Amino acid sequence: MGAKAGIAVFAPVHWTGIFLSEKGEEMELQGKSVFGGVAIGRISIYKKKDNVVKRTKVDDVDAELERFEKARVKAQEQLAGLHDKAMKEVGEAEAAVFEVHQMFLDDLDLIEQVQNIVKNESINAEYAVARTGDNMSEMFANMDDEYMRGRAADVLDVCNRVVSVLQGAGDTGFTATEPSILLADDLAPSETVQLDKSLVLSFVTRHGSTSSHTAILARTMGIPALISVDYPEDADGKMGIVDGTEGKIIIDPDSATIEVYKKKLEKELEKKKMLQELKDKPTETIDGHSIHLYSNIGGVGDVASVLENGSEGVGLFRSEFLYLESSDFPSEETQFKAYRTVLENMAGKKVIIRTLDIGADKQVDYLNLGDEENPALGYRAIRICLTQQDIFKTQLRALLRASYYGNLGIMFPMIISVDEVHQIKDILAEVKKELDDAGVQYKDPEIGIMVETPAAVLLSEELGKEVDFFSIGTNDLTQYTLAIDRQNAKLENINDPHHPAVLRAIQMTIENGHKGGAWVGICGELGADTTLTETFLRMGVDELSVSPGRTLSVRDAVRKVDLSK
Ligand code: PEP
Ligand code: MG
Repeated sequence: MGAKAGIAVFAPVHWTGIFLSEKGEEMELQGKSVFGGVAIGRISIYKKKDNVVKRTKVDDVDAELERFEKARVKAQEQLAGLHDKAMKEVGEAEAAVFEVHQMFLDDLDLIEQVQNIVKNESINAEYAVARTGDNMSEMFANMDDEYMRGRAADVLDVCNRVVSVLQGAGDTGFTATEPSILLADDLAPSETVQLDKSLVLSFVTRHGSTSSHTAILARTMGIPALISVDYPEDADGKMGIVDGTEGKIIIDPDSATIEVYKKKLEKELEKKKMLQELKDKPTETIDGHSIHLYSNIGGVGDVASVLENGSEGVGLFRSEFLYLESSDFPSEETQFKAYRTVLENMAGKKVIIRTLDIGADKQVDYLNLGDEENPALGYRAIRICLTQQDIFKTQLRALLRASYYGNLGIMFPMIISVDEVHQIKDILAEVKKELDDAGVQYKDPEIGIMVETPAAVLLSEELGKEVDFFSIGTNDLTQYTLAIDRQNAKLENINDPHHPAVLRAIQMTIENGHKGGAWVGICGELGADTTLTETFLRMGVDELSVSPGRTLSVRDAVRKVDLSK
C-alpha cells in the first residue's frame, strides 16, 4: 500500500507503544486490544483541562476584563446546553444544578469580585476567577445553612468552568463535531460520563488497562478500543483507522489502506447481521441446558443497546455512574427516576442494580474521600455505605420505590464478611419499615452480593445461605486474588484472568453458592470470554452478564456447547 510499504522511516525513542511502520504520511502504531472491530474516521485528541492557574501581570486591564466577559458568556452557553441535555437524558431534578450554575454566573458579587481583582492588581482573568472561586466557596462553606454550605462546590465548579474557557479548553476536552476516534492519555470515569458518546467511534489511550473503566465503557458501547498507544500529538485532526482486533491504529492512512479497511468493516457488519439471527433465540446448549444471559450497563442510556442485542435482562447496573455524572449527591428522586426508567424499559425482565461502588479509580469531589495509600484496598463501595448510612439509605429508598415498576434485584459490592450482609439486611429492613409507615408501595427484590474478594470466595458457603444470588466480579476478583492492580498497565502481561487460581475461585464460588441455595452468575469481563464459556457452563454457572455488544457472540458460544459429551 503506497510506494514505501513496510519501510520504517523513524521511531521516536520516547514511544512505549511499538512503532510498526511509516509509509508516506501513513503511520502504524501497535497497542493492546480492549475491544475488537474497525473504526475509520477523523482523530480527535482529548485535551485535559489545565488546572494550573498562573498569576500573570497584564498591561491592558480593559482587554483582560473583556476576556473575562466573553468567557463568562461562553460558560453560560455551555451550561444552557448541558441543562437541555440533562433535561432530555435524566430529567428535571438532575438538570436543575445547571440552572444554579447559570445563576452564579449572573451574580453581581461574583462578577464584581473578579473585575476588582483584575483592576486592582493588573492581573490575568484566569487568576482573578480562580481566586474569586476560592473566596466564595470558602464563604459558602462557613455558612450555617446546610443548603448554602452545599453551594461551595457549585461556585468552585462554575469558576473552574470559566477558567477552562479562558485557558482555551473545550467543554469536556473532546471537541469533535463529527463521529471521531478519541485519543487520550487516559480518561477518568468522571470524564467519560460527560462525553457525547454518539461522537465517539473508538477509544485509544496511552495509559489505562484492559479492565479500566474506559475499557468497560468501550465494551458497553461495542466500539473498538486500544490501550498502551503512545500516539504523536500532531495526529489531532488527521484521518485514522483503528483495528481493535489486531490492536493497532493507523494514522493518516493512504487511500489503498482505507479501501482495505472499508472491506474489513463491511465483513464485520455482515458477521454482526448473522449474529442478529440469534437475537430472539434461547441461550441454550445443544443438549438443552439453558442459562440467563444478561447485560452490564452504566446508565439509562445503555438500555437501548441491551434490547437491540437481544439480552434477557440487566445483570449489573453500575449505579455509581449516576453519582459520577453529578456535582453533588444525586437525590432520592433523581435516582428513583433513573432506576424506574430502566425497570420500565426492561418491561418485566430482570434488572440487577448494584449499590454505590465508588472509591479507588471512581472518585467524586463531593464525597471528599481524600488521598489513600492503597485506594483499591481502601475506603470504598459497601465500606462507605455502611459507615455513611444516610447515603446508603437514600439509595435503598430509591431502589425499593423503583422495585414496584419491574423485576428488580439489588446487589452489594466488595463484600468480605457475613456480618456485612447482616448489617445490610438490618438497614434494608429499616428502610422497608419507613416505606411501610409512609404507605409507599414496593416489591421485595432479590438480594445478592458481588463475589469479588478472596474473603467472599472462602466464605461463599456461609454467604450463599444469606442471599438469593451471587454475581462474581472477575475484574476485582482477579485483582485481589493475584495481587495485581487492575489499573497498572505495566502489569498487563502478568494480569491473567485465566490464572488457575482465579478459575478455581470461580468454581468454588459456584459450588458453594449452590450448596447455600443461591444462584450464581458472573458479571466481570471474563463472563464474555467465549474461550471460557464451556468451562463456566460445566462449572454450573446460572447466569452470565456481559457488555451489550458481546451478548450475541456469547449466546452463539453457549449454543455450540454440548454438555452431554
Ligand atoms: C468486577 O469487579 O468484576 C465488576 C464487575 O465490577 P467493577 O468492574 O465495576 O469493579
Ligand atoms: Mg468490582
